[in-house]
Amino acid sequence: MTVTPIRLFGDPVLRSPADPVVDFDKELRRLVADLTDTLLDEGGAGLAAPQIGVGLRVFVFDVDDVVGHLVNPVLEFPDEEEQEGQEGCLSIPGVYVDTKRRQNVVARGVDQHGEPVQIVGTGMMARCAQHETDHLDGVLFIDRLDREARKAAMRAIREAEWFGEQPPRVMVSPHPTNGLGL
Ligand SMILES: [Zn+2]
Repeated sequence: MTVTPIRLFGDPVLRSPADPVVDFDKELRRLVADLTDTLLDEGGAGLAAPQIGVGLRVFVFDVDDVVGHLVNPVLEFPDEEEQEGQEGCLSIPGVYVDTKRRQNVVARGVDQHGEPVQIVGTGMMARCAQHETDHLDGVLFIDRLDREARKAAMRAIREAEWFGEQPPRVMVSPHPTNGLGL
């Protein structure tokens, strides 16, 4: 059980595509446990391995009281329906922006033992799966915004107390009052 410091915007690991998991060993189970402990400690909805500095395709989630994980996720969208809603990121503390996402998603992958898993997600679970799978490709939610919204988000990041600090470590409120920490 280890709560691990979360890497913040500006850390290159957040911009690096993660590698597929090939070894389903004790180390992977430890990674899933560390991610889960860190997510529950932060009170967020999802956390991807690069956010704790590990370049592997793994994320964990805590949505609607369901805690789980997915390894090597692949997303499919069963329809064209979209959702609007506030989105945030544990790696970009304090910045929440309305972000358009698909409403429905089917996330396929495996669990920490290599067994096939399928998550049929709607609403927040769908948003979480998209946000976390983006992390595994080095993509952040601010990349999904239109130009004006992204400029405003970048301004908020530059003005944030935590931005540019060395080392990139900051205490984050475990209970954000609004928005969704992912
Ligand atoms: Zn995030």
